[in-house]
Amino acid sequence: MNKLRAAAPLLEQLVPYDPKYLPADAYLSANENAYNPEGALREAIAQAIAKVSLNRYPDPLANGLRERIAQAYDLEKDWVLVGNGGDELLFNLALAWGGPGRAFLNFPPTFSSYEANALLTGTTVIEVPRKADWSIDEEAALAIAASGDVDFIVVTSPNNPTGACAPDSFLRRLLEATDALILVDEAYAEFAEHSLVDWLPEHKNLVILRTFSKAYGLAGVRLGYVLAHPEVITELVKVRQPYSVDSVSQAIGEVIMDHREEFAPRIAQTIAERETMAQALSALAGVTVYPSEANYLLISVPQAAQAWEYLYEQGILVRDFSSAPYLEGHLRVSVGTPEENQRFLKALEEFLDTLPVQEG
Ligand SMILES: *Cc1c(COP(=O)(O)O)cnc(C)c1O
Repeated sequence: MNKLRAAAPLLEQLVPYDPKYLPADAYLSANENAYNPEGALREAIAQAIAKVSLNRYPDPLANGLRERIAQAYDLEKDWVLVGNGGDELLFNLALAWGGPGRAFLNFPPTFSSYEANALLTGTTVIEVPRKADWSIDEEAALAIAASGDVDFIVVTSPNNPTGACAPDSFLRRLLEATDALILVDEAYAEFAEHSLVDWLPEHKNLVILRTFSKAYGLAGVRLGYVLAHPEVITELVKVRQPYSVDSVSQAIGEVIMDHREEFAPRIAQTIAERETMAQALSALAGVTVYPSEANYLLISVPQAAQAWEYLYEQGILVRDFSSAPYLEGHLRVSVGTPEENQRFLKALEEFLDTLPVQEG
C-alpha cells in the first residue's frame, strides 16, 4: 500500500521541536556549559566507561548514581529518580499527573517542553502569562491554584528564557494554596546559588528538577533527576521507560557526582561573566537586558530577527525568539567563554551601528 492512515489527532497541533542548532564558531544558543570535561576528570570518565558491561541491561533506577545524588542532598535514595535528561522526567510528569480531563498551569513565556508535553498527553493547559517584567502574576496564579481545578504546575526558577528566580514568598503561598503537584524546575539553580531542596520534607506536593546538562557540562550525555517524596517517585516510576538511562550515562554521572566540588570555580566564573555581559549590554543604546540568575541573558534588540542573522553571519549562534509568542523582538544569549562573550558583544555593537540613528 502506498497510503498512510493519519497519526493521532492530537499531533495535528504539534510541530517537531527545532532549536535551530546550526553550525557556528561560538555556540551561545542552548545554555550549555562552554567547557567540555577534560584532564583528570575526562580520564576518570574514560576509566569508568571502560568498566561498563555493554552486553548487560542497565540498572533501571541507576541506583549507584541515585545513591550519590541522595547523599549530596542528605536525602534517602527513594527521594531521587534519574532520567534521560530532565526532559524525560518532564514528560513523565505530564504522563503521571496529566492526561485527558486533567489540567496543567503554565506561566509563559517559559520552557516550551512543558506545553508540548501537556498537549501530547491530552492535558488541558491553563496559562497565566507573565507580567511585563517577566515576573509571575502571583495573585492570578494563586487564585487558579486555589480553585482546585489544576492537577500540576511547573515553576521554572530561574525561568528560561527570562532569567529570574520565582520569589520564595510566592512559592510558599503556592505550595500552601493547593495539593496539585508543583514541579520547580531548577535546571539553572547552580547559577542562582539558590534551591528549594530544603523545603522537600515539609511539602509532599513539591518536586524539584535538576540536570547535569548545564552547570555540570553533560548536555551530550542526557542525565537529569527529580527530588521528591517517595510517593511521587513511585508514580513516576510507573510511567517511565525502564531502561531510559543507559549504563554509560550512569557511569559518567557517578564520576561527575564524585567530582562535583571541582565545578564551583567554573560556576563562579560563569556568574561573574554574566554580570560583566549584562553591564556591557545595558550600555548599548536600544538594548534592554533583563536581570538573570542563570547562565544566559534575555535581551530585547531593535530588528531582532536581523540582529540574529548578523550575529550568525559572524559565526555566533544565539537563540532567536524574535517571533516567539510573548517574546517578539527578543534574543537569548548563553554565557560562553570570556572570548566568546567578547566576540558576541562586539558583533552586536557592530550590528547596532548599522541601524539608522533613533530619535529620542
Ligand atoms: C535545559 C533545561 C532542562 C533540562 O534539560 P536536559 O538536558 O533534558 O536535562 C529543563 N528545564 C529547563 C528550563 C531547561 O532549560
